[in-house]
Amino acid sequence: MARIVVIGAGMGAMAAAARLAVAGHRVVVHERSGTYGGALGGVERDGFAFDTGPGLLQLPAVYRDLFVKTGKEPLEQCVELSQVEPAVRHVFADGTAIDLPNASRAGVGEALDAALGGDAGARWSAFMNRAREAWDRTRRPLLEEPLWPNWQVLAEREPYPSVPHKRLLRRDLRATTLTGVGELELGGDARLLALLEQYALAWGLDPRATPASAAVLPYMEHTFGAWSVRGGMRALARAVYERCLARRVEFAFDSPVARIIEKDGRAAGVELADGTAHEADFVVAGVAPGVLDGLLSGVSGMSGAFGVNIRAEGDVRARAGLPSRLMVFLALRGPRPGGTPHRTVLHTPDRADELDRLFGEDPGLPLAPTLTVLRPDDPALTPDTEHEALTLTVTVPAHTRITGADVERLIARAESVVPGLRERLLWHEVRTPADVAEATGAEGGAVPPPSLAAGEGRFLHPANGTRLPGLFAVGGWSHPGGGLPHAGMSGALVAGLIVEGPDFRGSQ
Ligand SMILES: Cc1cc2nc3c(=O)[nH]c(=O)nc-3n(C[C@H](O)[C@H](O)[C@H](O)COP(=O)(O)OP(=O)(O)OC[C@H]3O[C@@H](n4cnc5c(N)ncnc54)[C@H](O)[C@@H]3O)c2cc1C
Repeated sequence: MARIVVIGAGMGAMAAAARLAVAGHRVVVHERSGTYGGALGGVERDGFAFDTGPGLLQLPAVYRDLFVKTGKEPLEQCVELSQVEPAVRHVFADGTAIDLPNASRAGVGEALDAALGGDAGARWSAFMNRAREAWDRTRRPLLEEPLWPNWQVLAEREPYPSVPHKRLLRRDLRATTLTGVGELELGGDARLLALLEQYALAWGLDPRATPASAAVLPYMEHTFGAWSVRGGMRALARAVYERCLARRVEFAFDSPVARIIEKDGRAAGVELADGTAHEADFVVAGVAPGVLDGLLSGVSGMSGAFGVNIRAEGDVRARAGLPSRLMVFLALRGPRPGGTPHRTVLHTPDRADELDRLFGEDPGLPLAPTLTVLRPDDPALTPDTEHEALTLTVTVPAHTRITGADVERLIARAESVVPGLRERLLWHEVRTPADVAEATGAEGGAVPPPSLAAGEGRFLHPANGTRLPGLFAVGGWSHPGGGLPHAGMSGALVAGLIVEGPDFRGSQ
């Protein structure tokens, strides 16, 4: 039985903790805040409840596997999952609205044909077929296996089979970015381009620079669906926490780790902010790269735990500058109208401004950002059926300061897809990038995206094994990257690497 200290009680860290405890190890989680879940926080007021992190779950199979491998009760016995229908309503800049069915690629094609006309559905379906190839090629190395030692193969090879185009004298022009796929393969319809680019923007990635391999993001959603959790995503965090407790994982809350202790060239434990030291055979860190660097500052020869694993030195730190999220929670009087979609994406009418403000020289809140509106059909989130809890989310640059006028602008913009919003509004609360930073520790409130192939490795995350033997990285900032399913998989990979050793080749 090894003694294992886990730093942070985010979802990746807890997934690793539960699996390691089942393997017979003594696991203690030190969490600097007073609660578990990290990004999966919640706001409760006057009988309303809101998620401060993700509002929908993709690939629930990852958490199903966690619950199967760590106990008797399956996931569905611990939380109530349902596929939202429709998966999403898109409202484009020209006013076209379209409801996309959940987990039905054929249904999405039909809906696109009906709403956009032309050959929109056929083009999208053909794109999804190619996306499937990218998914088949990357699913194991970018979700289910530890980062390959020869990760350069993933960095250099584009798994998305883009269609060659002949243009004037240029032969075999091929899309290399997500925007390129939209422009060359989706027939020039600005709405299809917006639909596609939104998958990058929602993750804070610039679609003009995001490799075509990001086609796996819409593929995952359209194939495996989007799921809501009754009581909000916080209920999923609670279920994982309770599973950890049931497996005798110990939690120390309000227990910030100040330093990772090194002995004889190995991680040998942690020192807490109050100066107490806790010895361990393995340390598992579920924190952002900037935090981990700080925890290693006393360790000789460590100028960053990751660094050499992938990409050039410094890249990991640069990625901490990824965008964050701004969320506005709205408590509304009056019932949620029947037939309201769970999620509506209101696309920006000014794409150039949005891309410029998110990724340009002068970062800030776009004038009319792409806005995601969540309206869950869940009585557990409202005081009674005569009220509704609604969440607005936009991608904003990390560190962005938000003013009251910014929030008013967003609420006004949301009125176009939520008729009567202003009259129904009881109160609102705001979560800014600073609040995200407070919840997770990531600089500026940056939120990590899932790992993607190609792009010269800039979209990969560092391996779970670090340069310091005995120290492992878990959660959204390490392989296979951010997002609930990916962070959950990182827990499985770290547990596998510790239990089975460096030859562990991934979950089967
Ligand atoms: C606003 C927002 C929206 C998101 N939307 C989506 C989405 O739509 N879909 C999706 O799949 N994912 C989404 N994500 C990402 C997803 O929530 C995370 O990738 C996932 O929860 C994994 O988190 P993690 O394991 O990396 O830990 P984190 O949630 O980052 O938690 C890290 C934990 O470490 C603790 N910690 C930090 N420093 C120390 C220290 N020194 N000592 C002890 N503890 C410490 C923190 O307090 C925190 O609890 C979103 C995240 C945010 C913030």
